[in-house]
Amino acid sequence: MKQFSNHLPTLPWTHLVWSKPSIPKHSFTLWVAIQNRLPTLNQRCTAHINATLCVLCGGEPETHDHLFFNCPYVKPLWTFIQTRCGFHISPSSWEQFIGWVSFHWKGKSTFSSNSISIMCLASLVYNIWIEQNRRIFQKKAISANSLLHITLDSVRSKLLTSRILDLKDPRRTAAEWDLSVEILRPPDRIA
Ligand SMILES: [Zn+2]
Repeated sequence: MKQFSNHLPTLPWTHLVWSKPSIPKHSFTLWVAIQNRLPTLNQRCTAHINATLCVLCGGEPETHDHLFFNCPYVKPLWTFIQTRCGFHISPSSWEQFIGWVSFHWKGKSTFSSNSISIMCLASLVYNIWIEQNRRIFQKKAISANSLLHITLDSVRSKLLTSRILDLKDPRRTAAEWDLSVEILRPPDRIA
């Protein structure tokens, strides 16, 4: 088995899905979304759902590229996540965005600033997908602002129970996430 796994090709985004810490349901949804395999309305319409317009904005056909990246409902959320994670890029597509983060956010086995960024990415993708399903199947909706709070609360809860070892700026991270700096690095490294 080990010999077999050693010969599996390594995809450029694999570390986004398997890095630690992670929230399994978020990582799974990200894994499927990266492969464009979540059943969007565009794909479902051939079966039994007629509408193909995005249920978040109603303005464009619902593709992975639109739902997870270009939708006006989610664009401001990505802008906030970019600021929180300390990067600013302007990719033109979901595929290009995943390509950028795959290259720049190299996951580590220990916790790091990149690990927190990856958790934010996975949490936002998961919660966008949940909101899409809520609107279709429950006929309910929450605001983009509420979805952002849910996304960030999930990551913060994980940080509260995780041991952070390799942050660039623990004090800044602690302030951003409203956490005690003692949680984010070992006591002997606190200045
Ligand atoms: Zn939309």
